[in-house]
Amino acid sequence: MEVQPPADTFGELIPAIGYIRVSTWKEEKISPELQRTSIEDWAKRTRRRIVQWVIDLDATGTNFHRKIMKAIAAIEGGIAKEIAVWKFSRFGRSRHGVAINLTRVEKVGGQLYSATEDADPRTATGRFTRGVLFEVAAFEADRIGEQWKEAHDYRRNAQLPAMGKPRFGYIWHKRYDPETGALQQERYEIDPELRDVVVELYARYLNGTGFKPLAVWLNSLGCTTTRGGLWGQGGIRYYMDSGFAAGLLRVHREDCPRGKHQGQCSYYRLVPGAHEAIISDETWKEYQTRRKAVAATPPRSRLPSTEVTGLTRCGQCSGAATVARSRNKPGFRCARRTEYGDAGCVGVWARGADVVAEVRKWLRRVAHEIDNAPSTPLDSNGRNDDRARAARERARAQAEHAKIEASLTRLAVDAAKNPDKYPQGVFEAARDELVAERDQLSERISALVEVEEMPEAEDYLPLVVGVLDEWETLTVAERNLILRKLIGRIALQQPKRPGPVTVEIIPVWKEARKLDQGRYAAMA
Ligand SMILES: [Zn+2]
Ligand SMILES: [Zn+2]
Repeated sequence: MEVQPPADTFGELIPAIGYIRVSTWKEEKISPELQRTSIEDWAKRTRRRIVQWVIDLDATGTNFHRKIMKAIAAIEGGIAKEIAVWKFSRFGRSRHGVAINLTRVEKVGGQLYSATEDADPRTATGRFTRGVLFEVAAFEADRIGEQWKEAHDYRRNAQLPAMGKPRFGYIWHKRYDPETGALQQERYEIDPELRDVVVELYARYLNGTGFKPLAVWLNSLGCTTTRGGLWGQGGIRYYMDSGFAAGLLRVHREDCPRGKHQGQCSYYRLVPGAHEAIISDETWKEYQTRRKAVAATPPRSRLPSTEVTGLTRCGQCSGAATVARSRNKPGFRCARRTEYGDAGCVGVWARGADVVAEVRKWLRRVAHEIDNAPSTPLDSNGRNDDRARAARERARAQAEHAKIEASLTRLAVDAAKNPDKYPQGVFEAARDELVAERDQLSERISALVEVEEMPEAEDYLPLVVGVLDEWETLTVAERNLILRKLIGRIALQQPKRPGPVTVEIIPVWKEARKLDQGRYAAMA
């Protein structure tokens, strides 16, 4: 059965929302591009116009809080009449959720179509087919849920972690051996090369070393995480707390207030695993005692806030440079180096007072420069050249855009009235040409809007002068608030450590232009 285009007296394309969802199920990971192409083909075939794409990445069909609500709201708001999906299963796999969502769409006269399954919901047969397809989707969800539970039970009985994945300090022998192709007993064996490292890790912690320096130490040895990344303090804490090296497994507790869920959780109990322990039971108990003691110590007094908080970047790795304290004076250091050590970045250390002094010097210079710059010729609206030109150009492009839209409609109406006038493919070719032209104009219009909205240095003069005049009466937080409006970022560069630090201040008006130029370069 071919999907019939609905009789539309005006020959206009029916506005539809393209809804794309990528499932987390391995069995049906269909790329968003493929789904999009299928829906576009369907739209072409059935005379629809996709007015909006709603894309849901990495969600399961059984979850209610998906972006599909956005698509449904668009139907209710009259933006489109239909929702198109690659397959009906994209719309949802829970019987209850599908029924509710479908009712909402149909209540306002909307409709749901599948790009690859022939089921026209305007006919009784089509509705029946669609119902069957939804039932199949829900059945598959049930079945996979059961398989999951079975796998979980099996793993727990075998004293394996609920999730099979590599663990630091161990070699993971999977159930399926990719080399021999044989099934084997899944197990974790101590990695002889890492055993001493793990022992040393706990020993150092018990001697008073914190997680941060431990991460730095591991990275300096060239030991990576099981995913090949650098160690950070969060990762090391999670690994050491897990007790895996003490031969234990974490089991999620049934009384967790969040119920069954994914991700990390503090509601767990530890049970003996099937794998051999690296550290002794005694070390593990000492570790837990010390962890509790450290956690109970009040954190260091709050770090000082500064005028340039949130603006500083490490000039070396262009990551954030965050506030820290050295000899009780605030300063900025590379956050990447702090987290990962030498392996992360060579780093930078800049005294807070020096950076703020540079910022004040810069403010004075900017005020002087803007004031003395030859004023740009203004148009009758009082705007300067660049932006005025963009505005005029945009008006022209918009008029052109409207003309093409009108031609498209005329063409469609004419083709519907006099089909003989258009031999095979002629209508499509004419339409495609117009559509391509229209889309190009749309892109041009959005680029011009950006130029119009681009800030100019002189727009900021009052703010620069204001903060200079009022500097002494403003609080640190207020100065910070104003500087954030003026400065895009402050790059701190320290070629030699210890050694002088160069402070480069990039104002927001320059940063906006830089991004814009990058955009044009990418388009060319
Ligand atoms: Zn939980
Ligand atoms: Zn850095």
